[in-house]
Amino acid sequence: MDTNQDLNRPGIEIPAELRQQVTITTLERIYNWGRSNSMWPMMFGLACCAIEMICTAASRYDFSRFGMEVMRPSPRQADVMIVAGTVTKKMLPQIVRLYNQMSIPKYVVAMGSCASGGGPFKEGYNVVPGIDTYLPVDVYIAGCPPTPQALLNGLIALQNKVKNESMKETGWYSKEQAIDVPIPVLGPDVYDPRKIDLIYTETHKPEEVPGEETESEGESK
Ligand code: SF4
Repeated sequence: MDTNQDLNRPGIEIPAELRQQVTITTLERIYNWGRSNSMWPMMFGLACCAIEMICTAASRYDFSRFGMEVMRPSPRQADVMIVAGTVTKKMLPQIVRLYNQMSIPKYVVAMGSCASGGGPFKEGYNVVPGIDTYLPVDVYIAGCPPTPQALLNGLIALQNKVKNESMKETGWYSKEQAIDVPIPVLGPDVYDPRKIDLIYTETHKPEEVPGEETESEGESK
């Protein structure tokens, strides 16, 4: 990592003999530099992609080299949620609850086709077609599963995004209180939007009483 290039304020020339000892920077640059090099992912996985995430944390790839350090087992100590795997409708409320419990600023990485768009289970009755319907995703990583290199690349993309954030413009630093994402309720909130007409028809049918003939049945006889 070229610390000087990351930290120095552009346009200010530092004499060559002082470059390793002196940095002239701005508060925003040093703040973002510190945060982007200490992003702590939350330790949780959902399906096969999680195995690749575990590999990325292990010795061969070792994302500690990029400041990720150990994964945090508590959402309150984590900055990054790596959604690694298939998001089922049953798990979704728990994932959103964990996101709400993370301290801000917080970021979401959708790892793999399942988290990004439903993947091979997109049409499944039990699978959500992408976590971005419910949570704000910062980085999408393609693949089924993405390789550890792809995950590292996605995390570096997230670091670059953090480095370019502005304290004046980013929502995290406004005086307004952060609002939690509503926790989806299985049934009324979690459905396939393409089937909204069918769901409407089915849920607005007149209730059938056992033993009673409906009007249309009586007419047809
Ligand atoms: S994207 Fe592929 S590897 Fe990842 S959880 Fe889905 S099916 Fe498994």
